[in-house]
Amino acid sequence: TTEWKRAEGIVKELERQCSTPISRLREVVDAMAEELRVGLASEAKSNLLKMVISYVDTLPTGDEKGLFYALDLGGTNFRVLRVQLGGKEGRVIDKEFTEVTIPANLMVGTEKELFDYIASELAKFVTSEGKNFYLEPGRQRELGFTFSFPVHQTAIASGTLIKWSKGFSVSEMVGKDVVVALKEAMERQGLDMHVSALVNDTVGTLAGGRYRDEDVMIAVILGTGTNACYVEHADAIPKCQGLLPKSGYMVINTEWGNFWSSHLPVTEFDKALDAESINPGDHIFEKLISGMYLGEIVRRLLLKLAEDAALFGDNIPSRLREPYVLTTPNISAMHQDTSPDLKVVENTLKNVFGISHIPLRTRKLVVELCGIVAVRAARLAGAGIVGILKKLGRDVIGDTGKMRTVVAIDGGLYEHYSFFRQNMQSAVKELLGSEVSETVVLELSSDGSGIGATLLAASNSRYS
Ligand code: ADP
Ligand code: MG
Repeated sequence: TTEWKRAEGIVKELERQCSTPISRLREVVDAMAEELRVGLASEAKSNLLKMVISYVDTLPTGDEKGLFYALDLGGTNFRVLRVQLGGKEGRVIDKEFTEVTIPANLMVGTEKELFDYIASELAKFVTSEGKNFYLEPGRQRELGFTFSFPVHQTAIASGTLIKWSKGFSVSEMVGKDVVVALKEAMERQGLDMHVSALVNDTVGTLAGGRYRDEDVMIAVILGTGTNACYVEHADAIPKCQGLLPKSGYMVINTEWGNFWSSHLPVTEFDKALDAESINPGDHIFEKLISGMYLGEIVRRLLLKLAEDAALFGDNIPSRLREPYVLTTPNISAMHQDTSPDLKVVENTLKNVFGISHIPLRTRKLVVELCGIVAVRAARLAGAGIVGILKKLGRDVIGDTGKMRTVVAIDGGLYEHYSFFRQNMQSAVKELLGSEVSETVVLELSSDGSGIGATLLAASNSRYS
């Protein structure tokens, strides 16, 4: 039929606009490397990449010892964790954690409500310390605080909130020190604990990765959002003048979600998603790549096909117009549907949109759309990583010969979406070439960030 032909035409055009041939990816790599440099040079407001100085200038060595806590606040859940570290021999002697859902009303309430809730859950957790945990006499318990929102870090254990994201909007907190907010709440709860480190989740992942493998230089988050951090030479950070870490390096939190380049394959659908988002104009890279958005992009494509090519018949299913009903786990399930008649696609479209009796060729087209959106995302994420490798001079074999570089990666998108993972890996390999790509290891590091925060609390302990 002519409508089916029209649908095929729309998909073909989309495929063209979303394509990421190697030449285009190379432009993205170069633009990323350049923006990393620009962001390190100054604190100018116009910089795309904030390149936040993390104040982490010593990474775990394995010598860390003692009892340390971590608190991870960044999504819908928060996790509390304690570890008993036993140095080079003992390593992680024991660890315990618990995960608590944040009541939705607290995500948009007051500072006092949110932090009192967190501190009281933490206090509860402290009372259940098992027999393998031991605090040296005369010491206060110490905590690493993982806080995955943009923060202007002012010291290892303080930083002011730049803005909320991911559904949080707690009144009158922007510009305030988040560690002070936590400390005050702990005091109100009568909890005797010292906050030794405030860390971004990327930095926690880097620290956790480094504890297991000393060649970890970069950490990437691919979950609800996306971000990356890496280990930079202190003398390559002009805006860090005067602050000369003894180690000679500093971990930089890129906040790369806000990356943009004219080489990014942005379509009218991406532009509409951005315009209708809570942060229009911001975080374009994140909106092309991360788990919060991939499902929503595909929903917009399906709506277009329903409107212009009657993909689901003459009436447009009303749920197809509801923003964010289609999730990225839905996309990955449909994309990876191996049943011969695409049952998963059928069930997903039925459950999410209430659409039934979908012909097989339409189901195949839906799988194709998921592929177009996910492959673009995966390859752009890969180009971002190669951009950091390029900034570090590790995209080529240098004078010093083959140096191994490990990238620690965390987040549900990377962990659970294997087609995404595979496409990202092959883009990195294509960009680096076979010889260099042998020296670069992409490593899943699920919940490295929790352990990482305890390790950073240890290396920044007030007692050492
Ligand atoms: P956060 O980023 O909030 O800290 P996670 O790292 O656990 O949390 O990532 C959760 C995100 O990962 C979800 O929002 C979702 O987009 C994505 N995700 C989870 N499961 C899957 C899956 N099976 N396939 C694809 N994406 C997934
Ligand atoms: Mg997370």
